[in-house]
Amino acid sequence: MRTRLVAGNWKMHGSRASIQALLGSILAGLGDAGGAECAVCVPYPYLQLVAERLKGTRIAWGAQNVSEHAQGAYTGEVSAAMLAELGCKYALVGHSERRQLYGETDAQVAAKFAAAHGAGLTPILCVGETLAEREAGRTEQVVGRQLDAVLNSSPFENAVLAYEPVWAIGTGRNATPEQAQAVHAFLRTKVPSETCILYGGSMKAANAAGLLAMPDIDGGLIGGASLAAEEFLAILRAAGSKRVTT
Ligand code: PEP
Repeated sequence: MRTRLVAGNWKMHGSRASIQALLGSILAGLGDAGGAECAVCVPYPYLQLVAERLKGTRIAWGAQNVSEHAQGAYTGEVSAAMLAELGCKYALVGHSERRQLYGETDAQVAAKFAAAHGAGLTPILCVGETLAEREAGRTEQVVGRQLDAVLNSSPFENAVLAYEPVWAIGTGRNATPEQAQAVHAFLRTKVPSETCILYGGSMKAANAAGLLAMPDIDGGLIGGASLAAEEFLAILRAAGSKRVTT
């Protein structure tokens, strides 16, 4: 049995008012949105607000990044222990925007994964290839290298893996179910069988059912569509029940 999870990545969007409205609409529609687990990964300044609003509901919350360091002179950074104190269940690590825009290396991502784990958080490790890498036939090599960097230093337990092709993130161009399934099946060979593997990259209400019907796609990591309650709820409905039999 594997867990079904739909996690929103709000990126650097929102305000106190818009978050209250978004969560209000999502909570109001949860009743008929199926039983999959769900979570939102929110900007740091809103974690307290989100924690207060979601406490006691079935929506978990998490951060979009975490420091690899436990504490110290790291101006601007946020530790895993701080996130745990805010009730975070999840922390994204290795999102392609962190890798590409902020130069996060495989080694740094592995250290962030270990730090999150050490504080009792569930890391959501993101891996994915660029379009050039896909077109050069290097997809498995790239995602394998990104995953191996973590596997070489931490056990992959109490952790979620997300396949996010860089060319599909925020572009409106999702991987086809077959393209995603092929990479998920490859990743599945490298992690424990109960690992929840999410697909991320322009997943929305219109394409979620097709992607989530694939045998190795256990849920979604949702960027843009997680900012619209109806879209997010529709993806949750498409994900169906809390667990999927393997
Ligand atoms: C993401 O940021 O992880 C993501 C998948 O974004 P989008 O759904 O907007 O492509």
